Amino acid sequence: TLTSKTAVVTGSTSGIGLAIARALAKEGANVVLNGLGDAAEIERTRAAIESEFGVKALYSPANMLKADEIEEMVRLGERTFGGVDILVNNAGIQFVSPVEDFPVEKWNQIIAINLSSAFHAIRAAVPGMKARKWGRIINTASAHSLVASPFKSAYVAAKHGVAGLTKTVALEVATHGVTVNCISPGYVWTPLVENQIPDTMKARGLTREQVINDVLLEAQPTKQFVTVDQVAALAVFLCSDAASQITGTNMSMDGGWTAK
Ligand code: NAD
Repeated sequence: TLTSKTAVVTGSTSGIGLAIARALAKEGANVVLNGLGDAAEIERTRAAIESEFGVKALYSPANMLKADEIEEMVRLGERTFGGVDILVNNAGIQFVSPVEDFPVEKWNQIIAINLSSAFHAIRAAVPGMKARKWGRIINTASAHSLVASPFKSAYVAAKHGVAGLTKTVALEVATHGVTVNCISPGYVWTPLVENQIPDTMKARGLTREQVINDVLLEAQPTKQFVTVDQVAALAVFLCSDAASQITGTNMSMDGGWTAK
C-alpha cells in the first residue's frame, strides 16, 4: 500500500497518466495531477479521485515546456503533503512527418515536453527523495525508446533520451533508496494514438483501417493494443517494496514488438 505517499504524475489529465494517477490513488497515495485540458473536466477528474479513493488530489497547471513551472509543480506537492515520494514523468506529444519537412517548432516542443520536462521534474524532486531515503521515479518511455519507426524523428530521439536519462539518474541515486525506471509501452489506445492516424494516413497514403491494422498493430505480434490499466499496474508494482532492486531498467509492455 502507498498510504502516506505522495505522487506527482505529469500528463495525468488523459490516457496513460490518468490511469497511473488513479491506480496510485487506489493504493492510497495522494496525487498531484497535471496536464492540459478543459478546466471543468479536470476538476471533475480531481474530485472523483478524492471521493473514490479517499485520498487528496491536487491539480498543477504546469506547462511541461516551462522549467520554472515544472519546478513549482514539485514544490506544490512538497508544500502540501510534506514531500514528493513518487514522480511519474509521463506527459508527451507526438508529431508525424518526414524529417525534411519536420517543423522546427514541433521538434523543439517534443524534445522539451517528452524529454527535458523529465529532467526538470527529476532535478526538483531528487533532493527530497534522498533526504527521506525513499523514492520512485518512473518515466513513461515507449517502444520507440528502443527501436524506431519512420516519420517520428523527434519522438524517437526524445524517447531514446528518456531511456538514457533513466539509466543515468538510477546510478546517481542508487544508494539512497530511490529507484528510477522507465516503462516502454507499445501501442496503447489513447488520444495520442488516435490523433496520429490522420497524419500517418497522409504520410503513407493509407486508409484509417490500413493504418490501424497494417502500421500500428502490425508492430505488435499479439495484434492487440496495450491498455492504460495494464501500464498503470506496472507502475504500481514499481512503487512496491518487491521492486526495490529494480532500477535503471527499461520495462517493455509492447505485445512482443521489440522482440522482433
Ligand atoms: P494522451 O494524449 O492521452 O496524454 C498526454 C498527456 O500529456 C495529457 O494529459 C496532456 O494534457 C499532457 N500534456 C501534453 N502536453 C503538455 C504540456 N505542454 N504540459 C503539460 N501536460 C501536457 O497520451 P498518452 O498516450 O496517454 O501518452 C502518455 C505518455 O505515454 C506519453 O509520454 C507518450 O509518449 C507515452 N506513450 C504512449 C503510447 C501510446 O500508444 N499511447 C505508447 C508509448 C508511450
